[in-house]
Amino acid sequence: MWRDLAPLGRDSTTGGYRRYAWTAADADCRAWFRAQAETRGLAYEVDRNGNQWAWLGDPLAGDAVVTGSHLDSVPDGGAFDGPLGVVSSFAALDELRRRGTRFGRPLALANFGDEEGARFGVACVGSRLAAGQLTAARAHELLDADGIPLPKAMEAAGYDPAAIGPDPERLARIGAFVELHVEQGRALDLSGDPVGIASAIWPHGRWRFDFHGEANHAGTTRLADRRDPMLTFAGTVLAARREAELAGALATFGKVSVEPNGVNAIPSLVRGWLDSRAADEATLDAVVTAVESAARADADRAGIDLRVVRESFSPIVEFGHALRDEIGTILGRPPVLGTGAGHDAGVLSGAVPTAMLFVRNPTGISHSPAESATEDDCVAGVHALADVLEGLVRA
Ligand SMILES: [Zn+2]
Repeated sequence: MWRDLAPLGRDSTTGGYRRYAWTAADADCRAWFRAQAETRGLAYEVDRNGNQWAWLGDPLAGDAVVTGSHLDSVPDGGAFDGPLGVVSSFAALDELRRRGTRFGRPLALANFGDEEGARFGVACVGSRLAAGQLTAARAHELLDADGIPLPKAMEAAGYDPAAIGPDPERLARIGAFVELHVEQGRALDLSGDPVGIASAIWPHGRWRFDFHGEANHAGTTRLADRRDPMLTFAGTVLAARREAELAGALATFGKVSVEPNGVNAIPSLVRGWLDSRAADEATLDAVVTAVESAARADADRAGIDLRVVRESFSPIVEFGHALRDEIGTILGRPPVLGTGAGHDAGVLSGAVPTAMLFVRNPTGISHSPAESATEDDCVAGVHALADVLEGLVRA
């Protein structure tokens, strides 16, 4: 399976994957999923939001156990983020059949569409639509970088955009959803474990800091006469790092714009975007408040006018304790870890009992062609997923 997927949507110059929603590469990945389902005699279907399903047992019976992930990628993504969960789902089913497991509940394998949001800018479109967290009206307005609307892209790929929308009946038939995913950090590498389970997806948000100063000539303005917002911004970047370190949180200024952006001009405006994440909302709030007050103190001293706007915020997603404990028991208490990244499992956790398994990533690198996992760890992940599914579906 891994060999068959490897060339699909791979860019030959970067070696990274460009599997964007409703493109030819996406169609190739979807055809692969369908072929895997049909080879195994599973009932194949696509739901109203373009998510793919492969069923063993009656899809309408209810209390189904579902596992899966996504096959799309970020620009120049790695091979594992998403596909590892989908491939492991099929491999785990093969393992259960080898073991002669008797199925007391329906089992479905799923590929959720447009998880990364690389083309239309909104992540987890397939699961968000199903869960009612993204309205059909809003999805219909999404445009890609070439101005192509999402409905047009969907239609061109052979799907009906008029059908998209909430799918509560389908979600009500799911008794448990388990997503296996490559870890996007080094917690398992540091603890020396091949597989872990997720506790929560950290709350995270984005804040825009606008530092307004005074544009002037870089060659004629005395240092003492300047109101240079770049200096205040620089101090704020250092404050963000310091506060995040003190709190055990994350804070990153990864995007900045400068006006007038001239090499010989003192800037009139520096605009920096802060991405911050923490294990709980109180810590996140404390970090951002501390960064903002450090920035304000600096700004007041330097005659800089500071405005801070919160552009987005995602609250904490805690995976349900009942399913997490059940899985922990099945797997003999593996490490439990939080993650700063979003997933379909996080979206679905509002509607369905949901859990995640993580497979060790030795470098922690993700969303890059350097993303990796060893073959032994991938196999350990498949066995852990098979154990979990067997424990959940056994008659
Ligand atoms: Zn992913």
